[in-house]
Amino acid sequence: MAVLPILQFEEKIIETVKQNPVVVIIGETGSGKSTQLSQILHRNGYTKSGIIAVTQPRRVAAVSVARRVAHELGVQLGEEVGYAIRFEDRTSEKTCIKYLTDGVLLRESLSGPELNQYSVIILDEAHERSLNTDILLGLMKRLVKMRLSNLKVLITSATLDGEKVSRFFSNCPILTVPGKLFPVEILYCSERPTSYLESSLKTALDIHVREPEGDVLIFMTGQDDIEKLVRKLEERVQGLDEGSCMDAIILPLHGSLPPEMQVRVFSPAPPNCRRFIVATNIAETSLTVDGVVYVIDSGYVKQRQYNPSTGMYSLDVVQISKVQANQRAGRAGRTCRGKCYRLYPSIVYHDDFLDVTVPEIQRSSLAGSVLYLKSLDLPDMDILKFDFLDPPSRESLEDALKQLYLIDSIDENGLVTQIGRKMAELPLEPSLSRTLLEANELGCLSEALTVAAMLSAETTLLPGRSKGTEKKRKPTPLDLPDGSGWGDHIQLLQIYESWHRVDYDSRWCKDNDLQVRGMMFTKDVRKQLSQIMQKIAKGPMEVQTNKRWKDDQQDYKNLRRALCVGYANQLAERMIHHNGYRTIGYKPQLVQVHPSSVLRTDEDGLLPNYVVYHELIVTSRPFMRNVCAIE
Ligand code: ADP
Repeated sequence: MAVLPILQFEEKIIETVKQNPVVVIIGETGSGKSTQLSQILHRNGYTKSGIIAVTQPRRVAAVSVARRVAHELGVQLGEEVGYAIRFEDRTSEKTCIKYLTDGVLLRESLSGPELNQYSVIILDEAHERSLNTDILLGLMKRLVKMRLSNLKVLITSATLDGEKVSRFFSNCPILTVPGKLFPVEILYCSERPTSYLESSLKTALDIHVREPEGDVLIFMTGQDDIEKLVRKLEERVQGLDEGSCMDAIILPLHGSLPPEMQVRVFSPAPPNCRRFIVATNIAETSLTVDGVVYVIDSGYVKQRQYNPSTGMYSLDVVQISKVQANQRAGRAGRTCRGKCYRLYPSIVYHDDFLDVTVPEIQRSSLAGSVLYLKSLDLPDMDILKFDFLDPPSRESLEDALKQLYLIDSIDENGLVTQIGRKMAELPLEPSLSRTLLEANELGCLSEALTVAAMLSAETTLLPGRSKGTEKKRKPTPLDLPDGSGWGDHIQLLQIYESWHRVDYDSRWCKDNDLQVRGMMFTKDVRKQLSQIMQKIAKGPMEVQTNKRWKDDQQDYKNLRRALCVGYANQLAERMIHHNGYRTIGYKPQLVQVHPSSVLRTDEDGLLPNYVVYHELIVTSRPFMRNVCAIE
């Protein structure tokens, strides 16, 4: 493999880092920032005084890059090179290069705000502008002042406006690593296709028949569409005349793919074979897939957007920004001259696309982040005046404060309460943490831990429960006492309890259409949450994590009470004449139970009068997800 561009800058990087506490490094995706920078610093002695931390906004990237670096250094993953993502820590005492998600680093700063274990902190992929990276940027600004002589901070980005970050860090130096990108020919459609899936399929097949060798990277908006396109491509490629084209391998690539499937994209195509990689925007910058010569860009991305005045998330397929379109195109020019097929007219690119992507901090609920920041006890910390690279709206910060106040985690002066401090220790959203603490008081912690663990593992759990889809959940053929009328939480609890009763048998999972890996992960998450509860609930609280399992109606009732306390702002009452509900916590909205819920939406008479829900999500209509009956 050709030498990665960043390696030619080793001396310059080391010299600049030596002389400056903060350095911004801009380099084309694939130039080697994620895999090489940590090794360069390691070679030059920076692991003698501490660990090198490299943050990634995505879990997949943290795992994949750590695995790659361990391989390059010829060490076992988890020893000198390790990773830590939520609920999964593969590091040891030997670890000196640690890849971790930005969220995990934020959490670590709770137990030691000075992060003294680290000699270097690299905030990687800053251009993604994830919520946690943005918060870390603000915290790093304080930290470098506190640890001036013994901490180096590097901020890397593929596209970031380097000047802006440099200004944020008192005009720190910017190093640019020029990538060697081959020219990419951009081809536009004359008009927007009616179905971008069909149009992607047709374009992919045209490439396969007409164009010389080279892999094809296709950007789709989500897992469902990826699966559909993979299926269609498989069918259609098989039907092509063998003499007219080469063999094909079709590979999906998205965040919830099992690790063994993810690594397949890193093995090159065999001779005379073309790979089609059908990916979410994870392949835009987070993971570099080699061998791509053709890119098909729909111009869309799926994005969650929070509205602080209604408390609703919308899950929208939105247009990408110009920066994203150019990143996608760039993926085609890493090995040789490439082509990018944009499934939209050039006028749409020029006139409709935003120049840059809206940072996540400006489209997320901030309750969790505000609780962390407050729990750090930083001097003169006024959240409304926190130094953000791009501040969120005042409305959104006030919404976060209101939510936190309603669940007792801050007091009327905005100070963190004892409960709030405990909540911040749990790696869960504030409402779920509050539920666990309340459950402990009510004697149903064991049940609440199970529910929290089941919810945290949800993406890998049940086939019909992928986020945001409106598929009806498959009825699980379990022999359960009928708790489904109480809603999703009790159902999840009963599934886990049934599995427990058969001694966590993996056959049982398969028989019941549950992923074994997902269930094992749930078990592990439950254990971890239970350990954290043991730690934080010392004192007057009594932790009952190992109570005997039983189908106790009283426990279910208490669990529902605990949920009402945790989700005090997320209640809804039945509207008899509207076949739906009206929210109570926020400005009243007409909403419905999400079709993925076990609450029987089709049998009106059985719907409870009051419910508590986890989130409101607008897809075709506003829906409540994860719904529990109150009465
Ligand atoms: P950047 O961070 O600048 O985008 P990376 O360091 O991620 O660049 O990638 C550099 C090279 O390492 C690329 O050619 C990429 O394909 C390869 N690479 C990265 N991760 C892996 C992995 N898990 N397995 C195999 N190759 C990888």
